[in-house]
Amino acid sequence: MERYRNKEIECMSREDMKKLQDERLVAQVKHVYANVPYYKKLMDEKGVTPDDIRSTADLYKLPFLSKADLREAYPYGLLAKPLSDCVRIQSTSGTTGKRVVAFYTQHDIDLWEDCCARAITAAGGTKDDVCQVCYGYGLFTGGPGLNGGSHKVGCLTLPMSSGNTERQIQFMIDLQSTILCCTPSYAAYIGETLHEMGYTTDDIKLKAGIFGAEPWTEEMRREIEKSLGIKAYDIYGLTETSGPGVAFECSEQTGMHINEDHFIAEIIDPDTGEVLPEGSKGELVFTSITKEAFPLLRYRTRDICVLTREKCSCGRTLVKMSKPLGRSDDMLIIRGVNVFPSQIETVLIEQGYAPNYQIEVDRVNNSDTLDINVEMSDDKFSDMVKDIQQKERDLAAAIKTMLGISPKVHLVPPKTIARSEGKAVRVIDKRKLQ
Ligand code: ADP
Ligand code: ZN
Repeated sequence: MERYRNKEIECMSREDMKKLQDERLVAQVKHVYANVPYYKKLMDEKGVTPDDIRSTADLYKLPFLSKADLREAYPYGLLAKPLSDCVRIQSTSGTTGKRVVAFYTQHDIDLWEDCCARAITAAGGTKDDVCQVCYGYGLFTGGPGLNGGSHKVGCLTLPMSSGNTERQIQFMIDLQSTILCCTPSYAAYIGETLHEMGYTTDDIKLKAGIFGAEPWTEEMRREIEKSLGIKAYDIYGLTETSGPGVAFECSEQTGMHINEDHFIAEIIDPDTGEVLPEGSKGELVFTSITKEAFPLLRYRTRDICVLTREKCSCGRTLVKMSKPLGRSDDMLIIRGVNVFPSQIETVLIEQGYAPNYQIEVDRVNNSDTLDINVEMSDDKFSDMVKDIQQKERDLAAAIKTMLGISPKVHLVPPKTIARSEGKAVRVIDKRKLQ
C-alpha cells in the first residue's frame, strides 16, 4: 500500500496545484523584489516588475539566477530576510572558490524537513521504523535534511553521519535499522562490507534505502537492492533549493516526484534559455515559492533532465523528473564533492606547472578514484626527475587543500599528454553513469 505524508498535496489535481503555485509565485516575487536588491536589479534591467507576474504562465519573464550570481552575491546578497530571522546556514559540498551558502528561517527548515519526510514516507517509512542516516552531517545538507525528515515521520533516528563502516553495520544489526539514508556509493560500500564481515541480508532488518546527492545508474540500484535486500529509492536536491527532498521517488521507481507546492520546475535550452515543452530534455530550473530566507527564482541547476506528467501508479500527481542525465557545465561529483576542472588547473599554475594535464575519474569497488596526470615542462624535467615522488605528494596536498578530497598525482614527461585540435579533453570519466 502506497503511503503519503500529505495526500491532499501529493495527489492534488493539476488545476488546484496550478492555482496554489500561481498564488505562491505572485507573493514570492513581491517578497523578493522588495527584499533582495540584487534580484530587483536583475528584474529592473529586464524591465519586469512584480505586477507583470500574475501566474506561473508569466514565469518566463523573470531573469535567471545561476551559480555565478550566487558567487557574486556571496554571502548575504540574496538573503530576503533579516539575519536575525535566520536560524541555520548550510553549504554545498563544493569547494572554497565555489562554495554556496544558503540561509534558513525556522519556517524554511520545517518545509525542507517536511519534503524529506515525504520521501521517507514514500519509501514506506512510519513511526515504527529505525532510520539510519549516514549522509554527512554538518554544513552538507544530506545529514541534517534526512535527519529532520526522519524526526518528522517519527522514526527512531540514528544520526550516524558517514564513515566508520564496520560500526555502521554493527549498529544496523544491533539496533535493527529498517531504513538507510546515504549516498548510493556509500550504500554499495556498506553492502560490500556487510558481506565481507561474514553477514548476510538475514542478519539485518533493512527494508528500504533513500539514496541521492550524486548520479547513479539502474545497474547500481539493482546491485544495492540485492546486496542489502532492500528497495532503493532515489532522492534529489541541491543546497540552493534547501537540500535533498526537492524530488523523491515513489514505489514505481521511474523518476522522482517534484514537490511542486514548494518548487516550480521548468526545462530550458541551456544555450538559449528558451523554455522547452514538456517531455523535452534540457536544463532543470527551479523557482522556490515558499522559502523565506533564500528564495531563489528561476535558478539554473545545470542538471540535464526530462520532466513528465504521465500518470503514476502511486497515485501522486506531482510532476516527475528523470534521473539527471548529465550536466550543462563541467562540474564533476567525486566522492560526493563538487569538483570543477578549473580548480585543479588553478593549483597547477600556482605551483608553477603548465596547464597540460588530464583528470581521470573512475569507480573502483564502488568508491570514486581521482587520478591527475600532469606534464613536467622541458626545462624543469631533468631537475625534477630526482624527486618526482616528493613533487607528486606536494602537488596532491595542494590539490587536496583546494578540493577537500585527495587525488593521486602522476608527473609525466614533457609532451606525453595528447594535444587536442579542438577543445582539450581534460576529463576522462570512466564511471559510465549515464
Ligand atoms: P547536495 O547537498 O544535495 O549534494 P549540492 O548542492 O552539493 O547538494 O549538489 C547538488 C547536485 O548534486 C545537483 O545539482 C545534482 O547534480 C547532484 N545530485 C543531487 N541528487 C542527485 C541524484 N539523486 N541523482 C543525481 N545527481 C544528484
Ligand atoms: Zn509515483
